[in-house]
Parts: sequence; structure tokens; C-alpha cells
Amino acid sequence: MGKYDMIDKFDLDTMTDEQTKKKQDYVIKNCKCPSCTTYVKGDNPVGYCFPRVGTSKKIQWEKDCLCETCPIYKEYDLNHTYYCTRCSEICQSLKIQVPEISG
Ligand code: SF4
Ligand code: SF4
Repeated sequence: MGKYDMIDKFDLDTMTDEQTKKKQDYVIKNCKCPSCTTYVKGDNPVGYCFPRVGTSKKIQWEKDCLCETCPIYKEYDLNHTYYCTRCSEICQSLKIQVPEISG
């Protein structure tokens, strides 16, 4: 298993567009962000840990993060938090991995 496989927690590399869309819908459906104090009402879609969702256009202040209590977080063995402002799981992992690879 390569480094990329280990950080591609949602296994997107091996999935078709349709499968990716299905998984994204599943993540959004189970996401706890709408009940988080950091969340800004009306921001859509949630499921910020998922790579295709992207960061929030409305959230500016980090107050608290519920991700570690989310079923998706456990199911996919995620490692980061504040996906709404800091970018998706794989994006935050790459930010950490890059200095290691180039160093
Ligand atoms: S881990 Fe966080 S961003 Fe991802 S689905 Fe759960 S609450 Fe939402
Ligand atoms: S990613 Fe974390 S901090 Fe942001 S809205 Fe979701 S639970 Fe709250």
C-alpha cells in the first residue's frame, strides 16, 4: 500500500463517478456539521471532510468541531478536524505529507 492509498480514506482513486457521488450523498446524510456551533446555517452542502465538497463559503470562525463524534469519522478512520475551514481529509493529509516527501 502506497502513501497515497493510506491517505485516500474514502477510496476515491478506485471509484467511478457514480460511486463517488453515492458515497458523497452518504457522507452528507450522516454528517453532524448542521448541529455544530461552528456551522453557519444555510451553508450547503455539508460533509466537508469529503474531497469534492470543498471548504465552507460562509464559515469564518472555528468554535468547536463535532467531527470526532461523527459516525463517518469512525467508519472511514479519519484523522483531522475543522474540515469546513481547513479543507478535506485528504487535503489536510497532503499538507502534512508534502514536507516529509520533499524533505
Ligand atoms: S467527519 Fe465532520 S465533516 Fe465529515 S461527515 Fe462527519 S461531521 Fe461532517
Ligand atoms: S467540520 Fe467540524 S467544525 Fe466544521 S462545521 Fe463540521 S463539525 Fe463543525
